[in-house]
Amino acid sequence: MNTKGKVVGIISNLVTVTVYGPVQQNEICFINMENIKLMAEVIRIGKNNAYIQVFESTRGLKIGTDVEFMGHMLEATLGPGILTKNFDGLQHDLDKMDGTFLKKGDYTPALEDDKLWAFKPIAKVGDKVIPGSWLGEVKENWMPHKIMVPFKFKGTFTVKEITAKGEYKINDTMAVLTNDQDEDVKVTMVQKWPVKIPIKNYKEKPRPFRLMETGVRVIDSLNPIVEGGTGFIPGPFGTGKTVLQHSLAKQADADMIIVAACGERANEVVEIFAEFPEIDDPRTGRKLMERTTIIANTSNMPVAAREASVYTAMTLAEYYRAMGLKILLLADSTSRWAQALREMSNRMEELPGPDAFPMDLPAIISGFYARAGYVFLNNGSTGSVTFIGTVSPAGGNLKEPVTESTKKAARCFYALSQDRADSKRYPAIEAVDSYSKYIEYPEFIEYVKENISDDWVSNTLMVKNILQRGKEAYEQINILGDDGIPIEYHKNFWKAEVVDFVILQQDAFDKIDASTPIQRQRYMMAKVLDVCNKDFKFDSYEQVNPFYKSLINIFKQMNYSEFESEKFKKFEAELSEKISERASE
Ligand code: ADP
Ligand code: MG
Repeated sequence: MNTKGKVVGIISNLVTVTVYGPVQQNEICFINMENIKLMAEVIRIGKNNAYIQVFESTRGLKIGTDVEFMGHMLEATLGPGILTKNFDGLQHDLDKMDGTFLKKGDYTPALEDDKLWAFKPIAKVGDKVIPGSWLGEVKENWMPHKIMVPFKFKGTFTVKEITAKGEYKINDTMAVLTNDQDEDVKVTMVQKWPVKIPIKNYKEKPRPFRLMETGVRVIDSLNPIVEGGTGFIPGPFGTGKTVLQHSLAKQADADMIIVAACGERANEVVEIFAEFPEIDDPRTGRKLMERTTIIANTSNMPVAAREASVYTAMTLAEYYRAMGLKILLLADSTSRWAQALREMSNRMEELPGPDAFPMDLPAIISGFYARAGYVFLNNGSTGSVTFIGTVSPAGGNLKEPVTESTKKAARCFYALSQDRADSKRYPAIEAVDSYSKYIEYPEFIEYVKENISDDWVSNTLMVKNILQRGKEAYEQINILGDDGIPIEYHKNFWKAEVVDFVILQQDAFDKIDASTPIQRQRYMMAKVLDVCNKDFKFDSYEQVNPFYKSLINIFKQMNYSEFESEKFKKFEAELSEKISERASE
C-alpha cells in the first residue's frame, strides 16, 4: 500500500504535506489535482510532514489536495533508444510532445515500446552472472548497446534461458535468470535506476590516468584532461563556452556524448536543440547527434527539474559506462543547478551558507563530480565517464561559492578570460591560471611517457614557464615603457606571444586548425620550444618585435596547413631559414 498524504502548505514549488504513513528521503510522489497529476520529490521529512519539491508549476493547487507516495526515488529508464534523444530532466522525450515545451502534467515516455532491436546473445545458458553482467547486445544506431543484468538485482544468478538472435521490443524477455533460492526472474531490455544513487557495478575505480585527446591544444598540450577525469570551465557570457563545448563534443576521444543543458534562458536551450543536430561527426562522417543525448531543462519547468536533469544525465552516463564505453558528459551550466539548490534551501528556511547557498553545497558538488571516473568492469573491460561542467560566476567573480566548491571537486580548471575573448584570442582559456592536476599523477606521467613521448610533461611545464615570464615582462613593459627595460624582457614577452599564437590560439572554425591530433601537437610544441630556447641577439628592442612576429606568421601558416603536406614543409623550411638568418647575426 502506498503512503497517502494531504497538502497543508504551498510556497511556490515547495509544498508541505501531512503524511499518513512512512515516507523516504527523495521518494517520488504525485499530487492528484482535479485533471492532472503533479510529480514531486520528498526533500525533507518532518514529524508528520514531508516537504516536497514539485517538478511543475503549482498554480491552482489547493490546500487539502491528496498526495500519493510511490515508494521509490526519481528513476531513470535505461535501455536502447536513449541515443539521439532530447529529454527533459525527468527523461520525458521532448521530441514526442506538441510544441516546444511540455504542458503541465504532460508525460512522454523515455523509450519506444514498439521499436524492434536486433538482439544478439552474449551469455550462455548455465553462465553465472551478477548485476551489470552483459547478457546480450543490440545495435543502437551503430553503437553496441549491452543488455545487462539489472543493477538493482542482488547476488549471483544462473542463466536459465537466453533469447536467440532476432528482433525484439524493449519489454520482451531477453533472459530468465535463476537466483540462489531457485527462483526465476525475467530480464527485459529496460531497467530503472534512482538518479541520485551512483551505479557502482564495477570491480575497481582507480585514479584516472589515460590522456583523453581533445584536439584542443591549450587543453591537451598544457592542461590535459584524462579519460574518466573531471574539469570545469568558468567563464562570463561571450567568452566561448559554447564553442569550446562543441569542439570537445566533436573532437574528444569519446564514444558517446551526453549534454546536460541546464540553462535559465529558453533561447539557450532552444539553441542547443537547433545546433546539435547540425554538427557533423568528424570521427564517423555522420551526424554527431547519432552518438549524443541531450538532457535539457525547458524554461517552463521549475527549479526542481533543473536539479533532476544533471542527475539524470549522470545516470545515463554511468549506464553506458557499464557497457565498456567512454562517455563525455558536458553540463552547461552547473551554476544554474546550484541556484536551484539555493532556491529550495531558502524556501525551506534552512540555515544558509555563503551567498545563501545551502551549507552542504561543497559536499553536493563534490559528490556529483565523484561519480565520474575510469572503471574496470567485472568482466575486465574498462569504461569511463569524463565530466566537464561550465560555471557562470556572477560578474566573473571566481571567489563565489559555486566556483570555489567546484574548484575543490574538479581536477582540471579551464578559466575563460574576458580579456582574451575581447582581443579575440580564442579559445579564451587563460593558460597560466588554468591547471590540470593530472600532470602531477605519477600514473599519468608514466602513461604519456609510454604512449606519447618522454618529454610531454616536461615540455608542458616549460611552456607554462615561458608564459609566466612573458606575463611578468608584459607588466614591466607596461610600468616602465618599451625603452625602460632590458631587451631580455622584450624577448621574454615575445616568446610568450609565440606560444600564445601558435599553441594556445586555435580557430574552431577552420577545417584543419580546429582539431590538432596529439602527434602534431607534440611536433609543434617541440618547434615552438626550439625557437624559445634559442638565444637570438638583437641590437635594440625595436628589432625584437618584427622578428618574432614574422616567426608567428609562418607558424600560423603551418597550423592552417595539412600536417606534413608540401605546403606545411614549405613553411617549415621558411621558418628554419628565418631562424638561422637571425642566429648568425
Ligand atoms: P559563450 O557561450 O561563452 O557565451 P560562445 O561560445 O557563444 O560564448 O562564443 C562567442 C563567440 O566567440 C563565438 O560566436 C565565436 O565568434 C567566438 N569564438 C569563441 N571561441 C572561438 C574559437 N575557438 N575560434 C574562433 N572563434 C571563437
Ligand atoms: Mg553559450
